[in-house]
Amino acid sequence: MPPPQRAPPALMEELVEEILLRFPPDDPARLFRAAVVCKAWCRLISGSAFRRRFRKIHGTPPLLGLICRSASTYSNSDFRVAKTHFMANSTFRLPKTIISRWRAIDALHGRILFWDLDTVCSKSEFVAWSPNTSEVRRLPTIPCLRMCIWSAALLCATAGCDHLDCGHGATSVVLVGINLIEGLMSVYVYSSEKHIWSEPISIQDRTVRGFRGPSAIVGKTVYFLCVRDGSSKLLAYEVCKQELSFVSLPSVRHLDDYFFIALTTADEGNLGFVTMGNRLYAVCFAVCRVPFVGHSANNVFAECRHQNSRPNDGTRQTRLCRVRGALALGKPGICRVLHRGTRQTP
Ligand SMILES: [Zn+2]
Repeated sequence: MPPPQRAPPALMEELVEEILLRFPPDDPARLFRAAVVCKAWCRLISGSAFRRRFRKIHGTPPLLGLICRSASTYSNSDFRVAKTHFMANSTFRLPKTIISRWRAIDALHGRILFWDLDTVCSKSEFVAWSPNTSEVRRLPTIPCLRMCIWSAALLCATAGCDHLDCGHGATSVVLVGINLIEGLMSVYVYSSEKHIWSEPISIQDRTVRGFRGPSAIVGKTVYFLCVRDGSSKLLAYEVCKQELSFVSLPSVRHLDDYFFIALTTADEGNLGFVTMGNRLYAVCFAVCRVPFVGHSANNVFAECRHQNSRPNDGTRQTRLCRVRGALALGKPGICRVLHRGTRQTP
């Protein structure tokens, strides 16, 4: 009679951690399955130390999905309505939350800044949403927003943060608005710790008509691309010094001819831009600089549509492009399209 087989010795927790850390980051379902194996693994995977090491090993967080705003056509009618929706790029799914009437403005380390379109006529409210924790925070009202053309950026406000695990830390919102009547550009800063907006800091300029695309953060400075008659320039807000200034753009051929252009952080931490031309044009873009729950300073994501892609079956084909390797200003070239997904909308 053969001797009874003994169960193999349990792996040391350090070895388990090393194995789990090497799970592919673009498929979060695997880590989830591992977390339900036993309480010890669940504690390990959900701990902040594991999250930090996972981020450090894998570098750029995976693209789990995008939040887009696009119009759909109701069947048997030409009536179109714009809705905000989540476009999954992995096994990750959003918790059930009504975001269709929220417009995505910016996102950072798993938090998304929306503008609540239901408050446009009354209070004009921003909403900061953390899908991981389902925390929804409504920012205090800014009455002047209704009179302004504006843009906003979400910033990490934790001092000395390495951004490896700051999804629960303090944030700031930098809001810049243009009062066209007074020719004044003003910046307001919201602090999540104090839950208030700062007093405005203003700069006089009658040439700027609006903003193009999202903002970009380089170091401690937030940049907004301003539209003027004939050409563009940058508005820079230095967070530490609380100063506003304009930065002239270098002469880039045809820069102002593009319908779509987005500022971003280029490789080596420089300010860069991404644009598209030729047969592709942007229908909408959301979550630039941040691909939603994963964050990447070097990527710009856009939902694009081929001009002649509408098939006859009533559906619309769109392509999801992930562009990496932004171009340093003054050095035009071609960005690499890393990822293209196709989806159909009715
Ligand atoms: Zn941070």
